[in-house]
Amino acid sequence: MPAFDLIIRNGRLATASDSYVADIGIRDGRIVAIGEALAGAEEVIDATGKLVLPGGIDSHVHISQPSGPGIVMADDFESATRAAAFGGNSTVMPYCLQQKGQSLRAALSDYHALALGNCHVDHSFHLIVSDPTESVLGQELPALFADGYTSFKVFMTYEGMALDDYEMLSVLEVAREAGALVQIHAENYDAIRFLTDRLERAGKTAPHFHGRSRPIPVEREATHRAISLAELIDVPIMIVHVSNREAMEEIRRAQARGLKVMGETCPQYLVLTEADMERTGMEGAKYVCSPPPRDLASQQACWEGLQQGVFSVFSSDHCPFRYEDEAGKLAPKGRSSFRWVPNGIPGIETRLPILFSEGVVKGRISLERFVALTATNHARIYGLPNKGSIAVGYDADIAIWDPELKRPIRQADLHHGVDYTPYEDLEITGWPVSLLVRGRLVVRDGMLSDTTKLGRHLQRTRPLV
Ligand SMILES: [Zn+2]
Repeated sequence: MPAFDLIIRNGRLATASDSYVADIGIRDGRIVAIGEALAGAEEVIDATGKLVLPGGIDSHVHISQPSGPGIVMADDFESATRAAAFGGNSTVMPYCLQQKGQSLRAALSDYHALALGNCHVDHSFHLIVSDPTESVLGQELPALFADGYTSFKVFMTYEGMALDDYEMLSVLEVAREAGALVQIHAENYDAIRFLTDRLERAGKTAPHFHGRSRPIPVEREATHRAISLAELIDVPIMIVHVSNREAMEEIRRAQARGLKVMGETCPQYLVLTEADMERTGMEGAKYVCSPPPRDLASQQACWEGLQQGVFSVFSSDHCPFRYEDEAGKLAPKGRSSFRWVPNGIPGIETRLPILFSEGVVKGRISLERFVALTATNHARIYGLPNKGSIAVGYDADIAIWDPELKRPIRQADLHHGVDYTPYEDLEITGWPVSLLVRGRLVVRDGMLSDTTKLGRHLQRTRPLV
């Protein structure tokens, strides 16, 4: 019997700390050897001239999430995880949304039923707590932490989701006791409602006024408040999808004071601006997400946050709605006001190529930092053992990249359930070409090579923050 099921030969391996040319030996879905001239395998992949990276972990994606009356997300677990695989990701972390009045257990069993048997890559749920009742705080959350759901998200905005400060403190207190990590969507709900009302009264209802309804101070204030509330409880937090300098600087100051405040940013804040929302007619709706894309100076600030370690993770915030669809961006109510345009843009397949091309190829970040920001830090921070790096004993979650392959992003080439990409025609150098999930070659040379959908749900350990 050969020593290995598979050898990946002669590629340049990269981890969060090093890169070097070596062979990888894989057996039973795990990396069992890294060395020179490994031999004895059923199959050998020649990776000469390629990069061999840990499969990406996207710790911020929305799949099949209820999104309001008449609105339907464009991806189910099959299409979202297929797109994730083609984008070089071996694990995704979708949200399980608790609706008002619903128990978290009930919400989870709904999502598990949707995911079961439909995932091309591994997945692990974060919980969204929208209704922190006594039983949720006292019984459900502690029991779910014990079962490996060790992170959850709270919103400071959105009708039906926003928590007030008292509720935020209550949730943070439970997280502290359990050792869980809280992700926070930081925007000031009342300020957005106020500005939205004023804009609508003035007849300013086109999609791009979405940006004017939630300018930078809205995000900065909520970021500062979230940090202050976490400081009161003495608990780590992750501020998700940071879009601009002022919010980034709030996080940096908190870190300088020794607080365990982490930050995340996303592709839309590196390559889109508010000008994209100003396209004619309803076209701008394709770029409506929250926080909104800002300006070039904000893009620069987000790069600084990535370069200087203020942000520890780079995620997609994939939140897919079709454009030519009354259940998506062209919902009839959305034509009457930006207030009703579904919030969110797709990005699960393009996250890694955008950061690689704009970051590594253009010399803004090193290859090692790319690996940390897209895989290793996600595994560590969210408690995914044996994921997010290339090391003996780790799961054989591996993306093989062609660092020279030049091709623009084109909707026609993507695999998600959405009918557009906000990054159409963006020139990219460097694409993932093959992907292994626990040793299974799911994508091979740009083709889906394994349709068994054996991606599984991952129980998590205590976050390492
Ligand atoms: Zn999100």
